[in-house]
Amino acid sequence: MLFQCLCGFKAVFYSTHSDDEPDFVKKRKEEGLIKHFGFSFHAGPQLLDRLLSEHPEVDFVQLQINYADWNDPNISSRANYEVARKHGKSIVVMEPVKGGKLANPPAAVKELFQGYAPDMSPASWAIRFVASLDGIITVLSGMSSVEQMEDNLSYMKNFQPLNEEEQKIIRQAQKILGSSAEIPCTACHYCTDGCPRQIQIPDIFAAANLQIGNGQTAQAKERYAGISEGHRATDCIGCKQCERACPQHLKITDYLKQCSEIFGA
Ligand code: SF4
Ligand code: SF4
Repeated sequence: MLFQCLCGFKAVFYSTHSDDEPDFVKKRKEEGLIKHFGFSFHAGPQLLDRLLSEHPEVDFVQLQINYADWNDPNISSRANYEVARKHGKSIVVMEPVKGGKLANPPAAVKELFQGYAPDMSPASWAIRFVASLDGIITVLSGMSSVEQMEDNLSYMKNFQPLNEEEQKIIRQAQKILGSSAEIPCTACHYCTDGCPRQIQIPDIFAAANLQIGNGQTAQAKERYAGISEGHRATDCIGCKQCERACPQHLKITDYLKQCSEIFGA
């Protein structure tokens, strides 16, 4: 059985089992048809531990890791990373910039970074954080412009891991983000396809975060006004289909209520 990961990683993955042929991948590896096998993972450390114990043939795991989610119990970046390393697995990092959020973090975090290195972009801090960890073989940085590519090359070409002072600054940034009330949506859109009301969930959250994270009230209202009527926060019927689809395990319906209070619509 073949399937392709939806998380942006372009390699093709195989299931470890099929009804016709248990241990499909294991056998293909033995035949030399598969060189390196891995899977993308969004659940918790206990399940990861079980999977890796039952499938030692796995070579790598793709995990959501970034400095903002490092200690977040819903994402378990750190716990999953530690389990994978305990099993000696290499790691492909997805969401190192948290869907772009860490390229434009709250003002207090930007000031912190600029105070130490005015020319380094916020995205560079996020990517260097994950690239500095042991066992990382790939960082899926999700660049979408030439400028982002040039920025990425400027610090990845001759990569320098974060030094002690920079690690301290990351810890300060984690504290600031931990006390931030921003909605931690990565705009992946996994939640929107099955929504019976086609609520524009990530757009609504992005508008609210302009106000919550950066105090940009006018810009937030303007952005919210751009969302079509009938697909705003107040139009949600609370079926929670979206919550089952969200890889960040967000309580989307609670956040939508908050947004409807912020915008009154
Ligand atoms: S809970 Fe609301 S936003 Fe979520 S799928 Fe149902 S209608 Fe859509
Ligand atoms: S609410 Fe969850 S599923 Fe929807 S876009 Fe945000 S992170 Fe993705």
